[in-house]
Amino acid sequence: MIYRKSPAEQEKMRAAGRVIGQLLDELARRIVPGITTWDLDAFAHDFIVSKGAKPAFKGYTIPGLEPFPGTLCTSPNSGIVHGIPSKKVVLQEGDIIGIDVGAVLDGYYGDAARTYAVGEISPDAQKLLDVTSEALRLGMAAAKPGNRVGDISHVIGSYVKAQGYHVADDLTGHGIGRQLHEEPQIPNHGNPGRGPRLQSGMALAIEPMVNIGTNRVRENGWEFFTADGSLSAHFEHTIIVTDGEPRILTQA
Ligand code: MG
Repeated sequence: MIYRKSPAEQEKMRAAGRVIGQLLDELARRIVPGITTWDLDAFAHDFIVSKGAKPAFKGYTIPGLEPFPGTLCTSPNSGIVHGIPSKKVVLQEGDIIGIDVGAVLDGYYGDAARTYAVGEISPDAQKLLDVTSEALRLGMAAAKPGNRVGDISHVIGSYVKAQGYHVADDLTGHGIGRQLHEEPQIPNHGNPGRGPRLQSGMALAIEPMVNIGTNRVRENGWEFFTADGSLSAHFEHTIIVTDGEPRILTQA
């Protein structure tokens, strides 16, 4: 069921989203060569708890896997999503790193992701970040009443393809609210005019995952990588559909 959030629910989701936006801003200062993804995860855990919220991903279960151990998903370079924070992953100058984080506050969820440059990065890597973040912006702009989910999918997928890149197979955005993952699924490619119709008050997590070399993914437990080892980027916001511009919940 896709349900419209009441104004009171929207404010609770904004409170959860603000914590995430603030955290992602704080992480920008801490993502430097030499830091481990473990260190970033420890900072994120303490930050979320200090705001009275709880990490949403830690302990998340899917059949066949151990509960997710991190507060963050940390996915460097060819990592697409769901990377597990580790003392062994030391960020290097020139890396890119996708950070995905969810939090729950007063029973409502927020979910967002950014991909960061570690020091100076190559022009190719910078272009990937720019294209992926623009794909998110375009997808959010299509999230308006009267449009359908497929309009969001189509604008993301067609823009990414036109840039010569690939959206990762089988990984989608989603509705969000009282659960981390609610209906509808929001694929990153598809046909316009298809799927559920959007209405004001719907809360959506839109999240293009874009690879340079291939749409194909390689899975290793929780972690998803590009099948060809090429770079991947991920940007995500939780938004509310309104009669005007969508309201972005996951910013400071
Ligand atoms: Mg998400």
